[in-house]
Amino acid sequence: MPRLDTAGSRLSGTALEAAWRARAEFVVVGAGALGAEVFRQLCVLRPARILVIDPDRIEETDLAKSWLFAPGSVGRGKACHLAALGREYAPETQFLALTCEFADVGWQDLARASLVFSCVDNDLARLEIALACRKLAISVCDAGLAAQGASAGRVSWFAGYSGACFGCKLRPQRLRELLLFAQADVRSCSLAETGGGFSLTPTMASLIASLQVDFGVRQWLAQASESETIEIALTPEATLRTFTTPISAACPLHEPLPDELRIPAKPGMTFRDLIPQTSAQAAILLDWPYSTRARCLACSCEWQPFVRCAVLRSRGRCPACGASAIIEVDSVKVIDRDSPWAECTPEQIGLPSNHLFALRFSGQ
Ligand SMILES: [Zn+2]
Ligand SMILES: [Zn+2]
Repeated sequence: MPRLDTAGSRLSGTALEAAWRARAEFVVVGAGALGAEVFRQLCVLRPARILVIDPDRIEETDLAKSWLFAPGSVGRGKACHLAALGREYAPETQFLALTCEFADVGWQDLARASLVFSCVDNDLARLEIALACRKLAISVCDAGLAAQGASAGRVSWFAGYSGACFGCKLRPQRLRELLLFAQADVRSCSLAETGGGFSLTPTMASLIASLQVDFGVRQWLAQASESETIEIALTPEATLRTFTTPISAACPLHEPLPDELRIPAKPGMTFRDLIPQTSAQAAILLDWPYSTRARCLACSCEWQPFVRCAVLRSRGRCPACGASAIIEVDSVKVIDRDSPWAECTPEQIGLPSNHLFALRFSGQ
């Protein structure tokens, strides 16, 4: 295995290190204090490509979280801002910035990734990352900081297809709640508590980000097949603990993947264009349900949200009166040739135009 020195901008330049850099394509999900620091350290490693994903813009409060967010950057998208800094620093690396949530990224942008660095701050986002990366067989290195400013944190390696995922670490009831929230077709809206119990401080974020990049890249180079966690605490006394996580019998993400093909969509293609004409039972199975009709409980207004159901459940608002009390009337998860949505393009119902769509032949 090549030796890595993540503390220095110049690696020792062996042929092996040049080879890993040439094929390393990293994804950073979340550009807060932790994600910005992970991004900075990955730039120093100068991989082939870095994709950074965050839906938010830089606010005044972010200036205290990372040196990379300077006063002049307020109002810019976090992902675009970081990618612009990266292009200046490491012109040989390709940068891509997406201002959206991870679950709204088209999988054509993700499929080539070597490793996803999960720097998000809630369990729902972590589970959405686990769901997508499991299907794409991409390993995830996740990190979080202890709540209430404690000098503690942890980094977990989730091995692509072979090992335990984030869902395996959750209590079964919490896992069920989150899966329902993200994947159930139709349910009445309610705001779920999605916090993961972690808060971010810049100094601990920097320390944990260093550990996340070092551990993640080493595990990726070693093709580590077991899921492993490092927990670190500096107070009340310095402790370091590592443990492996087995696949949980309660985690449905490890059921065998169904018989499906993945079809790359191209701009302008409708769902009908994506379904082969040769099979009567073929259908597109969406990775998340999308809300196609909702009703406001306050003013009875009905509309077509065309967003993932989880987005409507998290922060949906009535377009007429702004109320958050919403009923989901209808959603779509499966589209066959006879579906009312068959003539739509993915964008028309809120999906990314460059997704890899799952094609099912079994009629399930
Ligand atoms: Zn799992
Ligand atoms: Zn309303």
